[in-house]
Amino acid sequence: MINIKFPDGAVRSYENGITPFQIAKGISEGLAKKVYASSIDGQVKDLTTPINKDASLKLHTWDDAEAKSTFWHSSAHLLAEAVEATLPGVKFWVGPAIDRGFYYDIDLGGKTISEEDLAQLEKKMDELAKNNSPFVRKEISKNDAIAYFSDKGDEYKLDLLSGLQDGEISFYTQGGFTDLCRGPHIPHTGLIKAVKLTSIAGAYWKGDEKNKQLTRIYGISFPNQKELDEHLQMLEEAKKRDHRKLGKELGIFTMDDDVGPGLPLWMPNGTIIIEELEKLAKETENAAGYKRVVTPHIAKESMYLTSGHLPYYQDSMYPPMELEGVKYYLKAMNCPHHHKIFSAENRSYRDLPLRLAEYGTCYRYEQSGELFGLMRVRCLHMNDAHIYCAKEDFAKEFRAVNDMYIKYFNIFGIDKYVMRLSLHDPAKLGQKYINEPELWIQTEEMVRQVLIESNIPYVEVQDEGAFYGPKIDVQIWSAIGREFTLATNQVDFAQGRRFGLEFTNNENQAETPLIIHRAPLGTHERFIGFLLEHYAGKFPLWLAPLQVKILPISDKFNPFAENLKEQLLSAGIRCELDDRSEKIGKKIRDTELQKVPYMFVIGEKEVNENVVSVRRQGKGDAGQFPVSEIITNLTSEIKNRQAS
Ligand SMILES: [Zn+2]
Ligand SMILES: [Zn+2]
Repeated sequence: MINIKFPDGAVRSYENGITPFQIAKGISEGLAKKVYASSIDGQVKDLTTPINKDASLKLHTWDDAEAKSTFWHSSAHLLAEAVEATLPGVKFWVGPAIDRGFYYDIDLGGKTISEEDLAQLEKKMDELAKNNSPFVRKEISKNDAIAYFSDKGDEYKLDLLSGLQDGEISFYTQGGFTDLCRGPHIPHTGLIKAVKLTSIAGAYWKGDEKNKQLTRIYGISFPNQKELDEHLQMLEEAKKRDHRKLGKELGIFTMDDDVGPGLPLWMPNGTIIIEELEKLAKETENAAGYKRVVTPHIAKESMYLTSGHLPYYQDSMYPPMELEGVKYYLKAMNCPHHHKIFSAENRSYRDLPLRLAEYGTCYRYEQSGELFGLMRVRCLHMNDAHIYCAKEDFAKEFRAVNDMYIKYFNIFGIDKYVMRLSLHDPAKLGQKYINEPELWIQTEEMVRQVLIESNIPYVEVQDEGAFYGPKIDVQIWSAIGREFTLATNQVDFAQGRRFGLEFTNNENQAETPLIIHRAPLGTHERFIGFLLEHYAGKFPLWLAPLQVKILPISDKFNPFAENLKEQLLSAGIRCELDDRSEKIGKKIRDTELQKVPYMFVIGEKEVNENVVSVRRQGKGDAGQFPVSEIITNLTSEIKNRQAS
């Protein structure tokens, strides 16, 4: 018998050699229908893997990322089977799961596939899926594997094989298709109930443009048609809400070739949003006892050697510039500058926790192929802060940081979020992770406790921590259900030592502080990109670049409108007057397109009674209000940062 430990801590005994699928079935038939993969001792494995020793086990249902990636990778194999059945003799490179879906890179040997052919391929995949073919794993010797693919004449798989060792090679077969693959896979093709092949692209072999161009077919699949339909609908909506499209239409940001790729220019409307976000951050952080600092955009090489960014992070930094024989780098992170502010004065336990905050500008080298609107850029403004604290204050500080995240999520109407807690692997201490076994265990446990106590949904992932401590990635979902990684929240017990940071503790001894790196609003670039999609460009009043548009019905009401505008501006409300000689219907339509939250329509009655007729963006007529009352209402809506 062997003991299996489940995520809730329960331990049960089973026959030696039992599989995760049999265990699921033993728990309930319903569960067995919903599992796609399993993690045995933290490694994702086939559900058919026999377990031969005591182990921890997690069964992955569709909600788990592991289930999706296993499902999608299996769908890539199904695609390959369909392509091979349709076009015999084609050759296959790799077919991984990606964030949303999968692709396969294929050498069609001179044949071509058009967008129209994709529908045929989808049909073939549906047909093959219905065969319920099991994905069968087979360990195979390197010689036998080479013989198989030599026979098939697939030089791409032979190239993959040349990099593998005998004893670590496996094949997976489903139906008539066999692939070199380490797995894992779902039990059988019949689980793939709905497939959509989304696009075709060219892709150079190994990403090198000197190599042959292969055909990449992208797709996505689901365990039922309903989820596929919802996904396609979401994509349709996402297209309408594309932050690059809205960013241009609403005058938020622009890119210019002469400035350079990945370097957005913030237009006046975008700048207003930036300033509102910074105002929110400053208010929140001031109330939480943070202190603001300002630091230069560059620093000497020596500082980045101390921090360890050089040479480890060099590929992500802009190349250095030289001045007076010294190399300077654009900063890729604010932390080292903040550490220098910490060490500029003698610190005692009375000064701690010290929380240094800055909307810091950083520059990172992202490959040009990776750049994407505001989501992947080379210049970013980060809602950064570093909290220096003694060990005994850590849990309290970390909890306060989490509370701040939740506060922001409430303000922005972010209902779905998950924190991904990345842990270390004790086997890799001293290599991938700083060799502080006790600190790792202590801080990981403290972080876990805080997450549990504050009722924050979270998942744990093994072996993905940062070099210097456990890392929490915050994932959020937009109003249309698209996932974004917002920011990370990190515990750091290495940088303090590297920089020789110390404080005098209450026993009069020198101690190194723990450091929390946190950025709840992420970067302006990514967060505003997210907000554009989330709100579909219809910002709540407090964030809207233009808050009120005054629309006189005819020219003769312009003087009243002009006076109203002055009153609104002096109350701190962003407003404009549309004094064109246009029909009121056109003025209203144009303002709707600009997504301005409020329209004040002014006619005879309004002027005579000193009132305004209010229209709300997307909602139409909201009634008449005396001027002073509407100003009070709007001021309070802005001050409270109400959702629209
Ligand atoms: Zn595979
Ligand atoms: Zn940092």
